[in-house]
Amino acid sequence: MPTPPLPPKPETAIMVIYTGGTVGMAYNRRGELVPMNFEQIRKKMPELRQLNMQVEVTNLGEPIDSSNVTVADWLRLAALIEENYARYDGFVVLHGTDTMAYSAAALSFLLENLGKAVVFTGAQVPVGRIRTDARRNLVTALEMAAARHPTAGTARVPEVCLFFNDLLIRGNRAKKVESQQYNAFRSENYPPLARAGIELDFNDQQIWRLPSAPLLAHQRLDDRVTILRLFPGLTERVLRAHLEADDLRGCVLETYGSGNAPTAPWFLKCLRDAADRGVHLLNVSQCEEGRVMQGRYETSAYLTELGVVGGADVTVEAAIAKLMFVLGLRQNAPETRHLLTQDLRGEITIM
Ligand code: ASP
Repeated sequence: MPTPPLPPKPETAIMVIYTGGTVGMAYNRRGELVPMNFEQIRKKMPELRQLNMQVEVTNLGEPIDSSNVTVADWLRLAALIEENYARYDGFVVLHGTDTMAYSAAALSFLLENLGKAVVFTGAQVPVGRIRTDARRNLVTALEMAAARHPTAGTARVPEVCLFFNDLLIRGNRAKKVESQQYNAFRSENYPPLARAGIELDFNDQQIWRLPSAPLLAHQRLDDRVTILRLFPGLTERVLRAHLEADDLRGCVLETYGSGNAPTAPWFLKCLRDAADRGVHLLNVSQCEEGRVMQGRYETSAYLTELGVVGGADVTVEAAIAKLMFVLGLRQNAPETRHLLTQDLRGEITIM
C-alpha cells in the first residue's frame, strides 16, 4: 500500500503561555469550577491539530484566576518571552479576562522593540462548555500571532495585543467592559488592529511599526504606586491616607471630564505635599472617551504648576502600568515626568 503523503511541515512555530483564567476551567464532580492543565484543554480542542503551525505550550506556573496576577508574574512573562524569542514566530498568552488589560499593558511596556506578535486571549465561557468562546478566541489568536506581512514576510502585528470576540486590539488600549456577554473588551480611543470575519482583516495603518533595534525585555517595575479616583465628597483624611502611604512613588489620579479636579485649598495642599515628597501624579480622565487637557478649565490649570502630568487619552490600566514601568527606569524627576508625557508604546495619541 502506498504511504500517504506527509502533511506540509509547519513552518510557523507559536509559543502558548498558559496562565489560567476561565478559559481553562472545568467543573469537577462536586460541581465546582476548577482550573485544568493545558493537556486537558488540548484534548478539548482537536482543531489545534488542524492548524498548519507548531504550537508549543508552557505554563507560567500553577493556573491562576487573573485576579491573583502579580507584578512578579508580569516580569516572569516578559523574561519567558525574551528567552524564547528567537525560537518562535509569535506568542499567545492565555489569561483570565479580569486583569488581562492590565497584564497586556504591562507587557507592552516591558517588551521594548518587539518585532513579533504577543497576543493575549482567554474566554468568558470555559473551554469544556458547549457554548464556549475559548476555541474561537484561541484558534484566531494563534492565527493572528502567526500572521505575516504579505510582502515583507515580517510579523503582521509586532505588538502586544489582545484578541477577543473577533477583535484584535492594542494591549495598552484595552479595557474589560463586559462580564456577561462575549464582547468582553473594548479598545479605548484607538481603532482595532484587525477584525476576524471570514478573512482576517488587518488595519495595517494602525499597527505599530517594526523596530529597528533588537528586543529589549525590561526587568523592573516599581509597584510603589496607587490609583485614586476622585468623587464629590472625597475628604482630606482619605486623600491624605492615600497620598501619604509609606514609600509611595506614583499615583494615577482619576479626574473628571477633561482632567479637572477640585480647587479647594486643602486639596491643592495635599497634592503639593505629595509632589514635594517626590510622588509623581499622572492625571487620567474618568471619561471613557476624550482626553485630559490640563489648563482647559481653571479646575485643571493649577495641576500643571504642581507638576501633575496630563495622561492624554490613556486608559487607567495602561496608566498604572506605565507609571510602574517609568518609575522602574529610575530616572530623575524631570526625566520621569518627561517619559510619562511621551507615547512610549502607542498607549496615547499625541495631538
Ligand atoms: N475570574 C476569571 C479570571 O480573570 C475571569 C475570566 O477569565 O474570564 O481569571
